Amino acid sequence: MRTKAIAPILADNLAGCERCQKCAAQCPGHINIPAMLAIFCQCQNGDRSALLPIKDFNKHGLPIDCIECGACTAHCPKHFDIRAAIKELAMQSMQE
Ligand code: SF4
Ligand code: SF4
Repeated sequence: MRTKAIAPILADNLAGCERCQKCAAQCPGHINIPAMLAIFCQCQNGDRSALLPIKDFNKHGLPIDCIECGACTAHCPKHFDIRAAIKELAMQSMQE
């Protein structure tokens, strides 16, 4: 059986995001994934102040709510490796 190639998320290829919200619609953590991916790319470009909105751990729907189920990646028409990006974002937000 053929498997889909999973694409790492980089600021350059996120421009190909269709804003379809299929990733967020499947997320049991109710994470606004397209918004989080935008923050992820800002961080990749060196803007760590982008992490500030996701450091209020009393809120819900943040990267730390990710249970790594992979549903987002499975439903993304661009096959972005969303799970890895959200996991990385969760780790970075806790390090600040
Ligand atoms: S892997 Fe994380 S971000 Fe993706 S759907 Fe599952 S809980 Fe949501
Ligand atoms: S499923 Fe993929 S293409 Fe659609 S909004 Fe999410 S990241 Fe973008």
